[in-house]
Formats: sequence, C-alpha cells, structure tokens
Amino acid sequence: MLKTNQSPRYVQPKLSKENVRWIKELLPGLSSEIGGSIELNSQGSFERFTVYTSTRRTAMTLPDFFQIEYHCHFDPYAIQLPSITDLKIAMKRKLGYDKKATGVSGQLNVVFCLKGVVVYRYDGKEKHADRIFGAISDIMNSGRDDARGMRDQIEKIEEISNFKFSFTTWDVAARRGVKLGKFCLKEIVVNPA
Ligand SMILES: [Zn+2]
Repeated sequence: MLKTNQSPRYVQPKLSKENVRWIKELLPGLSSEIGGSIELNSQGSFERFTVYTSTRRTAMTLPDFFQIEYHCHFDPYAIQLPSITDLKIAMKRKLGYDKKATGVSGQLNVVFCLKGVVVYRYDGKEKHADRIFGAISDIMNSGRDDARGMRDQIEKIEEISNFKFSFTTWDVAARRGVKLGKFCLKEIVVNPA
C-alpha cells in the first residue's frame, strides 16, 4: 500500500554490508526464486526487506506497487543481469509511477545475482519499442557473465536505451554496502495492518 509522504524529497538510500550479507550467503543454495520489496522509513533509510517465495525456479510475480523491488538470479547457467522481462516490468512500473496509476508504481529495481548487486531503473517518459528490447537482447546474448562482461553489456544497453544501471560486486558490497541511488521519498510503502 502506498502512503503519500507529506514533504517529498530526494534521498540516497543505502544497503549496509550487514543488510546484504544474508542474501549473498543464501544465493548459491537457492533452488527457487525469492524476491520482494526493500522498504525505507520516512527518513529515507533502509527499514526492512519483505520476502516473497515462489514455487518456480526462475520466475515469480510480485505486486506492482513496490517502490523498490528486488529478486535473485542464482542460477550460474542463466543470465546474471536483469532479463528482458525484468526490464519490461521496470519500465511498466516507472511509467505507472510517473502517470500516478493506481496499483502500478515503482522507482528502483534490484537484482541480487551471483556476481553482485545490480540496481536498475527506467528513465524514459514513454515505452520503448520492441526493437529496442531486441537490440538489448542481442547485447545480452553476446556478452559474458563475469563482472567485466556485465559492465560492458551495461554500458552498451545504456547507450541505446533509457535504462540506467549501477552494478556493485559482492567484494565491494562486503566492504562498503550498496548504494541504491536517487530515490524520491514522496511515497513510502506501508504494510496493511
Ligand atoms: Zn530476473
């Protein structure tokens, strides 16, 4: 549920190394998808994760109103970056947020993968055409899934689309935590009582 914050402002929330360590430790042993929301308090600091589990290995359906959504890519043989489906969901959620659609709203998205933490968001005002997603798919299918290869792919995807990424390796996350980037604290998620 979304609650309007009285005084909207921009914050730069961060996950501390303690906040993310459990996910890093959990990832290699996962056999089905987990995900949920990263909730901030009214000061814009990390409050908690909500955790949703799925019976399926690589897919789960989350509510459309999470302001910061996350899920895990734990399969070493599958794509580590957000998939085309993930990017389309991020686009839909951001456009819902911009247009103040009820029930569809989101600013930031996070994938915890085996290589690190990928924060991604859509920065456009209109939907991308299918051919853009085709081009993104080509980039992903030709790239490597190590940290260097992921950075190369991210750079190429950012050049041709309105998606923005920030990638933190687990090495860095273990020392400094993970910056989530700019977030407008004009709505915060509150759990139904
Ligand atoms: Zn995914």
